[in-house]
Amino acid sequence: MKAVLFPGGKQVQIVERPVPQPEADEVLIRTRASALCRSDMSLYNGNPIVGGDATLTGQIIPGHEAAGEVVQVGQGVTEVKAGDRVAVYLAFGCGSCTHCRNGDLMLCDQWKCLGFDLNGGDADYVIAPAYNCLKLPDTLSFEAGAVMTDMVGTQYHTQKRLDISGTDTVAIFGIGPMGSAGILIAKGRGARVIAVDVLDSRLEMAKQLGADEVVNSSTENAVERLRALTGGRGVDAAIDCSGHPVAQNAALDAARKLGKVAFVGESRSTTINPSDQMIRKLLTVIGAWYFPIGEWTELVNFVVERQIAVDKMITHRFSLDHAAEAFQLFDQRQTGKVVFVWD
Ligand SMILES: [Zn+2]
Ligand SMILES: [Zn+2]
Repeated sequence: MKAVLFPGGKQVQIVERPVPQPEADEVLIRTRASALCRSDMSLYNGNPIVGGDATLTGQIIPGHEAAGEVVQVGQGVTEVKAGDRVAVYLAFGCGSCTHCRNGDLMLCDQWKCLGFDLNGGDADYVIAPAYNCLKLPDTLSFEAGAVMTDMVGTQYHTQKRLDISGTDTVAIFGIGPMGSAGILIAKGRGARVIAVDVLDSRLEMAKQLGADEVVNSSTENAVERLRALTGGRGVDAAIDCSGHPVAQNAALDAARKLGKVAFVGESRSTTINPSDQMIRKLLTVIGAWYFPIGEWTELVNFVVERQIAVDKMITHRFSLDHAAEAFQLFDQRQTGKVVFVWD
C-alpha cells in the first residue's frame, strides 16, 4: 500500500508498505478520507508535539483524522464488521483506568495517538482498535467523518461545557480549521457569533460559515469592538483557537463579568493578569481538548439533524500522490481544512 512518511525538515516521502493485518480486537480499514491538521505540522517539521520514542523515528505514518470502510476484522471483534463505514477516534487508551472507562481516552496515562505513536490514516489502509471505530451513517460523507473526529468533536464538547445557547454572543479568536468548526457548532447551538482574526481571507471564510460579525484585529482593537457589539457588556463566551498570547488576552478582556472563556489553541506560555482579567470578573476559564468517545453518537445526530455543513470547512482535496504539495500549502496557511481522498 501507499503511505506518507515525514523524515523531518518539511520533507514528504511516499513509500510502499505491506497492508497490515488486524490482530485481536483490531480492524483493518480501507482509508477513504484523511484530514490534515495543524498538529501534523509538528511532525512535518520534525518536532512532534505529542507521541513517544516511536514518533521521533520518522517511520510512523501520520494522519490522525481518518475515515474509511472496514475490510477485515481481527479475532474477537463483534461490534464492527466488514463493510461498515467508520471514522477513527484518535486516542487509544489502556481500556481499564478511570479515564478510559469514562470515555476520555486522551486522559489515560498510557494513551497513544493515531498518526503519532501508531500508524495513521495517510495511507491506503489503517489499523484501529474495534473500540475506536466510530460508526458513520450513510448521510455523512467519509470526509465529514474524518473532520468530525478532531476539530468538530472538540468544538462540540467545548461548547457543551460552556453551555452555549441561543441567548449567547460568542467570540471566536483564530479562524483556522478549529475556529471554523467553532463557528459551525456555535451557530448550530443558536448563538450569535463574532469571528476575530488578523487575515481578511479567514474572516471571509468565517462569514461563509455563518459568523454574524467579523473583526480584523490587525486593523482595529478587537476588545473595544466586541464591547461595542454587546452594548458595552462584553461577550458571554470567548473561545481562543489561535494559541496566540494577544488573542488569549483579548479573549479574557472581551468576556463579560461572569462570562466564560475556553483556551483551545495550543500554547506553551503567555502572561495574563488574573486579578483584573479573571478574579474581579468572576470569570470561568477552561482548557479544552478533544471529546469523550461516548459523545460520538450525540455529535453525529447534532450534525445530521441540524444540517451542520462540516464539509464547508474543507477547501482542498488531494490524492496521496500529491501529499508534498498538500502539506506545503497547508503549512503556508493558504488553505482551510485539507483532506486526502481516494476514488
Ligand atoms: Zn487534528
Ligand atoms: Zn486508560
